[in-house]
Amino acid sequence: MKICVVGSGIAGLSVAARLAARGHAVHVYESAETPGGKLSSFFLNDFRFDRGPSLFTMPHLVDDLFRDCGEEASASFNYKKLAIHCAYFWNDKTQLRAYADEEQFTAEIKRQLKTDPQPVLDLLHRSEKLYQLTGRLFLERSLELKRFLDRDTFKALVRLPFYKLSKTLHEANSEMISHPKLQQYFNRFATYNGSDPYRAPAMLQIIPHFEHGIGAFFPTGGMYAITQAIVELAKRKGVVFHFASPVEEICVENQQAIGIKTKGERVLYDLIISNMDMTPTYRRLLPKQAAPEKLLRQEKSSSALIFYWGVRGSFPELHLHNIFFSDAYREEFQHLFAVDAQTAFPDPTVYINISSKEKPDDAPAGCENWFVMINVPNHDGRDWSNYVRDARENIIKKISARLNVSIAPLISAEYVWTPEGIETQTSSFRGSLYGNSSNSKYAAFLRHQNFSKTISGLYFCGGSVHPGGGIPLCLYSAKITADLIGEKYAV
Ligand SMILES: Cc1cc2nc3c(=O)[nH]c(=O)nc-3n(C[C@H](O)[C@H](O)[C@H](O)COP(=O)(O)OP(=O)(O)OC[C@H]3O[C@@H](n4cnc5c(N)ncnc54)[C@H](O)[C@@H]3O)c2cc1C
Repeated sequence: MKICVVGSGIAGLSVAARLAARGHAVHVYESAETPGGKLSSFFLNDFRFDRGPSLFTMPHLVDDLFRDCGEEASASFNYKKLAIHCAYFWNDKTQLRAYADEEQFTAEIKRQLKTDPQPVLDLLHRSEKLYQLTGRLFLERSLELKRFLDRDTFKALVRLPFYKLSKTLHEANSEMISHPKLQQYFNRFATYNGSDPYRAPAMLQIIPHFEHGIGAFFPTGGMYAITQAIVELAKRKGVVFHFASPVEEICVENQQAIGIKTKGERVLYDLIISNMDMTPTYRRLLPKQAAPEKLLRQEKSSSALIFYWGVRGSFPELHLHNIFFSDAYREEFQHLFAVDAQTAFPDPTVYINISSKEKPDDAPAGCENWFVMINVPNHDGRDWSNYVRDARENIIKKISARLNVSIAPLISAEYVWTPEGIETQTSSFRGSLYGNSSNSKYAAFLRHQNFSKTISGLYFCGGSVHPGGGIPLCLYSAKITADLIGEKYAV
């Protein structure tokens, strides 16, 4: 089969490698000059930055990808398990390090928060059970009723009512944990798919297991090493890349995808896989086809505003991942999902990722590369300049007060990525980070399947379709799509 993949995000690259390894002739078309989409990298003076994702979980999915392509990942891609997942800071000077080791973590909770850590262990246990019950069910299967008619689904349907999943994530967390700072700690996991813990379902209690049960990792060469390794794997399997080649149209005849239009020319293919966000796939590449309006109208996950700062100095109290919590967490989420939130939230939760802590050559000697991110509303066509100016001021004030040092004069290089920039550079609808939000009870079913129901030969993979956004889910998405094609078409 001659297959075209539109976009070289992590899911596009992975599906291309998988299908080429099975003997298909695969071509990847990418608008940008380099691969990776959100998972790319850039230099700012002597500082290197990973552009988007910074937290690497479930690395075994990359190993599986290589193995399914007949190779061992370790020959070209390595990673290490982090001893401290993240350092948490509150405005009142409380600090908590989330150790990977359970004993160290519980000792830290006792020391810093002066509270019994047992409820935390209970919640993590529940998270693991939920993962065992539903993980494979929802993450590894194509979203079709016929795939769910088996014992595993039956077992889940019988047991899930005991987990009282009709509650919100916040309600479920606070039922198990009374310490407000630990409630906030567990509520934050909703942001791992861009959702609001005060509205998202308790099912998201599955997420802590990814980090605490399986682990948080760092790729030896930084996050971009994931993209580089999969691009090289795909090339070895025979994938042909066309960079700076935006796809302008998916050509359809008699409800069959027959090719694409790029640079004004039509190129014929047997199958098309869109790794572009599903909304612009329908609106821009398939404007004459009926779109699944109900799915397209779902609320989107939050977006982000990122300041990439080259910082003079080094900060031993900071780790690879750091969170500076807001004192007004509920209000912060109301702001993120309000349609008219035009002014920057005064006390935002600030995430700082410093890859030079693990990979010192990402910054010059005596300096650090700070990826400073706050969650913000989606791009709605606004001019972001006032929001950026105020957010920058709020962040600097908060970090300076907490670290007891004036940060502004230490910033020697700066680049800013707004929701508008995220949308323009990666085609993510409204700059949302993870496609549709998971703020509704039925969120898992409100994603586009990995195939088109109305156009044969058209498939989808990536963060805006099933099973969802984030690197691990994109890797699952690519596997589901490749397997669907493998089931239907011989090489
Ligand atoms: C700031 C930020 C922080 C994040 N943090 C994390 C994190 O810590 N951990 C985590 O797991 N996930 C994180 N994510 C989410 C994660 O990055 C995404 O879910 C994932 O990378 C999406 O991959 P994808 O395969 O859907 O493709 P994308 O990365 O969205 O790439 C799509 C590609 O398609 C190309 N394209 C679009 N339209 C066309 C066209 N018409 N023709 C040709 N090419 C086209 C684009 O140029 C792009 O390269 C973060 C995302 C962002 C933005």
